Amino acid sequence: MRAIYAPTGRAREYAALAANLFTGCPNGCLYCYAPGVLRRSREKFHSDVRARPGILEALRRQAPKYAGDRRRVMLCFTCDPFPSCRLAERVTIPALEILQTNSVMANLLTKNPFLATGLLAGAKGLNLQDLRLGVSLSMDVEKSRRRWEPRAESVADRMEAIEVWRRWGGKAWISVEPVIYPLQALHVLRRAGPLVDHVKVGAVSGQGEVFGSFDWTAFYLAARKILITLGASFYLKRDLCLAAGVPADDVHQFGSVQAAARARTEGWCQ
Ligand code: SF4
Repeated sequence: MRAIYAPTGRAREYAALAANLFTGCPNGCLYCYAPGVLRRSREKFHSDVRARPGILEALRRQAPKYAGDRRRVMLCFTCDPFPSCRLAERVTIPALEILQTNSVMANLLTKNPFLATGLLAGAKGLNLQDLRLGVSLSMDVEKSRRRWEPRAESVADRMEAIEVWRRWGGKAWISVEPVIYPLQALHVLRRAGPLVDHVKVGAVSGQGEVFGSFDWTAFYLAARKILITLGASFYLKRDLCLAAGVPADDVHQFGSVQAAARARTEGWCQ
């Protein structure tokens, strides 16, 4: 079993290395692409969530091969690394300890950062400064969140968790993807953009599904303007640039060639 792998396609834009710890995800997002990728029924994927058999042993075997690698390992693409307190305590925290013990850097992406920060704070063996906490947040109206991400944490909890993490001196980023309600996504950029170290914005779900037909060019221009005005480090994904009809180059994706170089040096992008 391969625990650490090199993602391809759209996922490659987010991370050069990744590991998926669980067989499913309880968050129940309506746009979730993972059941299709893993060939599981949607119902089972969201209700029957376990550690992948042998995942910690496989990580223990493979992590030494990535010791000192400057690429971070993303946890996770096809699940949430904090699906529940019990699973995260038994699997995610030990997985992070294995990675750190082997000098492998980790990058987390979760819709449950409130649970994540609570557990990470209590994990005495972990160096929190070495972690990056990514929070998936593409809408800021609670009614919309409940409809699309019914069992994930509320918008308020995610925002509070980001603030707490930053107060502790941790590095944080947000993933604004998929964009379902463009105005809400722009609000998220305005509200959460100033709180985090990096922002990624993508147009579509993991399988390239577009939600709603709106003016992507107007959205792209507004998002880019907000992020540049905030002085944020950002990355606008290729799909968004293509939908907006602009070239997917450093100037359009990062704001400038210099910003692109900085984001790559700091390890936010490849
Ligand atoms: S958090 Fe990700 S993996 Fe989990 S249900 Fe939502 S989209 Fe799917």
